[in-house]
Amino acid sequence: MPGEVKIVAVSKTKPVSDIQQAFQCGQVIFGENKVQELDEKHQQVHEPVEWHFIGHLQRNKVKYMAGYVSCIHSVDSLKLLKAINKEASKHDRCIDCLLQVHIAKEESKFGFPVNSLDQVLAGNEWLELKNTRVVGLMGMATYTSDEEVVRGEFRSLKKCFDEIKDKYFKNISYFSEISMGMSGDYQVAIEEGATMVRIGSKIFGERNYKNK
Ligand SMILES: *Cc1c(COP(=O)(O)O)cnc(C)c1O
Repeated sequence: MPGEVKIVAVSKTKPVSDIQQAFQCGQVIFGENKVQELDEKHQQVHEPVEWHFIGHLQRNKVKYMAGYVSCIHSVDSLKLLKAINKEASKHDRCIDCLLQVHIAKEESKFGFPVNSLDQVLAGNEWLELKNTRVVGLMGMATYTSDEEVVRGEFRSLKKCFDEIKDKYFKNISYFSEISMGMSGDYQVAIEEGATMVRIGSKIFGERNYKNK
């Protein structure tokens, strides 16, 4: 049964004033998917919000957020994890990371194929990275109104999480997060074990562009 679920308020394309207003209402975690937009908002928002990065991230852009980002949901290679570790170490920080797993049918979604996480975790390199913590997994379901498809995909992420936890994180309590569910499917995600949901339009209203 659902325990406590964290809400990541996805503020992409929305003005800083929306973030400040949500913060006044008690929302602390905000998610952005573009490096430059995150950077601009980080400079403009002086309230003590927690920034999560949820978009596709190139290694050479990690440096722009390494000084302040608290969690990166979209780690899809060991190389990226290492780059985050290196930049975080320059700031003497530890950045929480989620490994993004490809659970959807669509080709366009990034992430590790479900069965490929072993390739990263079986080698112990990631354990030596002292400025990153792998705190869980993230996934995006297929964009469809077919609830059973979405539920099946979320269930596959939960199953993947349980297996990985058992194999590599048995005594590591911080490996505890499953980031799945957006405005259209967060209820299903929570039923299937999400610990973080990433909600944009249901909080801030529809965005003014397509396909994002
Ligand atoms: C935009 C986005 C969301 C939020 O989408 P909504 O449908 O507006 O809730 C969640 N996760 C990621 C990775 C996103 O890019």
